[in-house]
Amino acid sequence: MTTIEGANIETLTANFAGEVIQPQEAGFDTARQIWNGHVQRRPALIARCRGAADVMAAVRFCRDNDLPASVRGGGHAVAGHAICDGGVVIDLSAMTGSRVDPLARTIQLQGGCLTAHLDRESQAFGLATTGGIVSHTGMGGLTLGGGLGHLMRKLGLAIDRLRSCDVVTADGEFVVASELEHPELYWALRGGGGNFGIVTSFTFELQPLGPTVLAGMVAWPMDKAPKVLRFLREFMAEAPDEVGMMANLRLAPSLPIVPEELHGKPIVALIVTYAGPADDGRDVLGPIRQLGSPALDALTTKPYVAHQKMFDAAYPHGRHYYWKAHKLGPLSDEIIDVVVEHAEQVTSPLSAIPIFCLGGAVARTPEESTAFPYRDACHDLNVVASWLPEEVGDADRHIGWVRKLFSALEPYSRGVYVNFTGDDAAERVRQAYTDVQWARLTALKARYDPTNFFRMNANIPPG
Ligand code: FAD
Repeated sequence: MTTIEGANIETLTANFAGEVIQPQEAGFDTARQIWNGHVQRRPALIARCRGAADVMAAVRFCRDNDLPASVRGGGHAVAGHAICDGGVVIDLSAMTGSRVDPLARTIQLQGGCLTAHLDRESQAFGLATTGGIVSHTGMGGLTLGGGLGHLMRKLGLAIDRLRSCDVVTADGEFVVASELEHPELYWALRGGGGNFGIVTSFTFELQPLGPTVLAGMVAWPMDKAPKVLRFLREFMAEAPDEVGMMANLRLAPSLPIVPEELHGKPIVALIVTYAGPADDGRDVLGPIRQLGSPALDALTTKPYVAHQKMFDAAYPHGRHYYWKAHKLGPLSDEIIDVVVEHAEQVTSPLSAIPIFCLGGAVARTPEESTAFPYRDACHDLNVVASWLPEEVGDADRHIGWVRKLFSALEPYSRGVYVNFTGDDAAERVRQAYTDVQWARLTALKARYDPTNFFRMNANIPPG
């Protein structure tokens, strides 16, 4: 009999279609790695599920044996919530099946699907909905926290098109959550993170888009950053919903798309997506080009799927990452000065300050309809430090840069997007929600997970 903490593993493996991976097995060390190489944990067991039946079996195994558990979707949470020390990882990474219904314009995604799966399958039918801006991000964690993306101003957050979820609850039961069934759970799943159950399948509504879009990056040397960020503020205040925009401040990466003479130089970039006919987009986006001589102009028509992968190479698996974030109101001149000053002090060529523009459909959706807060915030700003595993001795320097900019922006903060919390998740989760949402979420946690079984996350305690 093989046991962990006295639990007989055969009671799980006897009724399990996926893989049960133990520490002594080849492949265990690979299976416990997540996106952020800075987080290294050793679970006692990895239960790599194939479907809802495996997920129910894994939850019941943990419950019966009083074992702590974590749930792994795409493994992107920077704090490493997907992996626990000494417990069971309920791993959804093999659950990547999907099905588009082109007539109903919906897609079903299994709980371990990545943004890449959503885009590939829905674009085969000329359809889309909001996914993340890096295609290897899990749709599970991304959606449950809200889901920002290039299309959000037109189509809303990922949760705004989420129609129903298949959920395995903390006691190992299977329920469907939608407007008609378990509507309170459905509300909590749309913004409350992984606190309320394991979603084995998501159903999203899709809209026509592409297959090509007018999209890409325009970049200038950093000395133009104040001008470019003021432009972004004015332009996005009036822009139609079709315009998705982000700014990004960093040292130019050595990627093929970036001219060689720019590599390693400080730049400010606008990343633009026009979710409508390209001809209209060229007119609407004309003012960007009037900003004057960019160092790089890669705004062009291209496959939406390719656009969705444009950041993939900049955020590879296994590098070390540390980040902090704020939601912000309009980019005031003071905020711009603070951001530019700290961008110039960046400590690593791999670090960056991405700034998402919210607004449009995100802001119009009533706040009480989901658990996603502060929909009227204009921006989400991330301070992302990244360095190579062999530079481990420099970690404090890079982390220090993040903390310094984060602190300098605190006076302007409008809370935090729960999916952009890092090792500060425990202390900042409360700031992620309004008082009304927090009261409702903690009450629902008490109803659906009174023992806080799902606690390896930005944790909402039972009220
Ligand atoms: P995981 O670490 O696997 O999971 C994160 C949390 O969700 C864990 O608590 C886990 O238990 C829970 N969880 C995951 N799947 C399920 C499920 N099926 N059922 C129940 N619980 C589940 N966010 C955006 O909104 N937009 C972006 O464009 C964006 N870009 C990003 C780019 C990068 C490179 C990274 C690292 C993150 C990005 N994020 C973005 C943040 C992202 O949304 C969060 O990191 C999110 O937690 C990732 O989900 P995951 O499934 O990959 O992560």
